[in-house]
Amino acid sequence: MAKLALEHLTKDFGNVRAVNDVSLEVEDGEFLVILGPSGAGKTTTLKLIAGVERPTSGMIYIGGKPMNAIEPHHRNVAMAFESYALYPHYNVRDNLSFPLKAPGRKFSQQEITRRVEEVAELLNIAPLLDRLPRMLSNGQKQRVALGRAMVREPDVLLLDEPISHLDAKLRHRMRTEFKALEAAIRATTIYVTHDYLEAMSLADRLVVLKEGTIQQSGGPHELFVNPANVFVAQLLGHPQINLVECTLQRTNGALQLVSTDGAIKLEVPERLRGALENAGIDQVIAGIRPQHLGVVDDHRPASNVFTGTVYVYERLGTKGTLTATVGAHRLDVLTSIEESFAIDEPVSLTIDPAQLSLFDAKTHKNILFN
Ligand code: ATP
Repeated sequence: MAKLALEHLTKDFGNVRAVNDVSLEVEDGEFLVILGPSGAGKTTTLKLIAGVERPTSGMIYIGGKPMNAIEPHHRNVAMAFESYALYPHYNVRDNLSFPLKAPGRKFSQQEITRRVEEVAELLNIAPLLDRLPRMLSNGQKQRVALGRAMVREPDVLLLDEPISHLDAKLRHRMRTEFKALEAAIRATTIYVTHDYLEAMSLADRLVVLKEGTIQQSGGPHELFVNPANVFVAQLLGHPQINLVECTLQRTNGALQLVSTDGAIKLEVPERLRGALENAGIDQVIAGIRPQHLGVVDDHRPASNVFTGTVYVYERLGTKGTLTATVGAHRLDVLTSIEESFAIDEPVSLTIDPAQLSLFDAKTHKNILFN
């Protein structure tokens, strides 16, 4: 294990900037998740750390030592990819010991046996050591692939979308498995994914990447509650956060946000007043999470209540998702599974204003981050 540090790391492929001025520290033994859409620069970042790509500029340190001039096989970094890439004719034991027998690695047979058995024990695959890969479930194959990276006892373990190719049901199960495995992985680990649920459930700390640039880093809940910008707000959460463009209006000292079509009026919560005044802007985007909207029976106009009609209602497992048309907006609302709505039925929605996020309409930055 060792601390990993990236300093102003940049990688250009011709005129494409894949990684843009990324600075990041991953503590000794930390499990960090990088989340970003396709093309965000996630894989390139891992390849730079592993040494299979050279940075255009910036520095990489492992355990305080600069790595830029160090060849990949001297970095003590292991990378596991999306495919398990197990050797089909080797049993689990041989698949696990393979990385220790590569040319240039001089491990005694005793040391190889010790490491293989220790990793197999940690990952709960000891009873499978004599099986061929085709005799394993996908979950077990995943553990063997991970074991093969861990057996080298790397300082840094890089996991590139390790479960993204599995179907949704298996992915859900593997997510829980990985959560349990985190304690067994002793290396400083970076786990890359484009799946927000995976990121939210696995991360101690989450880094959101867009077009090669870090958007925000922090605890998953912190990013969900206080996203630094509209991009992070939209990336985390399903259904996605509702975004309503509003103008700030002042009446008799009271501050109100009014949507551009006038259909939605929101009081500015106490907690955001100061930041909004400081920002000195009157065009904002209000971010309202579907779980912070509720349906009320009373259709009379009131503050923080707005009326519309039901566009569609879906029951999904343990929750319902109501999409309502309010003026020119379509708002998603999470409801309890017991509720029921008919298309075009009038509906009144209420919001707890304390849960609002407000973004500068021009820069898309959270006003709390200015
Ligand atoms: P995905 O989730 O689709 O794997 P990613 O976030 O891992 O995406 P990267 O694979 O790091 O993204 O790619 C970042 C950008 O760099 C993309 O625009 C990609 O097309 C470009 N890129 C990556 N590798 C190369 C290469 N070898 N040559 C040219 N462009 C590249």
